[in-house]
Amino acid sequence: MEEILLHACCAVCMAYPIELLKENYNPVVFFCNPNIYPEAEYIRRRDELIKYCEQQGYKYFIDDYEPEKWYAYIKGLEKEPEKGKRCNKCFEYRLLKSAQKAKDLGIKTFTTTLSVSPHKVSKNVFEAGQNAAQQYGLTFLEQDFKKQNGFLKTMEIAKKNDFYRQQYCGCEFSIRKNSL
Ligand code: SF4
Repeated sequence: MEEILLHACCAVCMAYPIELLKENYNPVVFFCNPNIYPEAEYIRRRDELIKYCEQQGYKYFIDDYEPEKWYAYIKGLEKEPEKGKRCNKCFEYRLLKSAQKAKDLGIKTFTTTLSVSPHKVSKNVFEAGQNAAQQYGLTFLEQDFKKQNGFLKTMEIAKKNDFYRQQYCGCEFSIRKNSL
């Protein structure tokens, strides 16, 4: 089966999308999330994803943690609300890096788990994915993983596997009072 690079933001959000993709592809996981703050939280989410990939026998790659580059990329948008312009830049940053990784690995198609979350506007995620695909001459698979109760299904798998479940999206601006 053809490989697909799956940008994954955490084990929870990856759980259902990867099952779905396996019907038509051989998924290769890419953890690229320099938006996550603080570093201890980044490590916690990263290690949970690594543990699950190893348990399931999924091939995976972990990007370098370079939050300073992410901060520079979203500069000026710190006060934007969730689902706003900062999030679109954040999608853009992670999907451009994912496209670059797919290109380096010789994988022609990529997608992301980001569309599984009801807190994210799938249309904006897809726009960022398509732009990244165009820049690297790849195909971005527009799959809205939240459809057909996708979020519920991913939460069920997460619960069954006793995954660590975070209380906020990822960046320091998304931390709600009492969520740390
Ligand atoms: S709220 Fe989430 S998607 Fe939006 S900028 Fe922060 S980490 Fe990125």
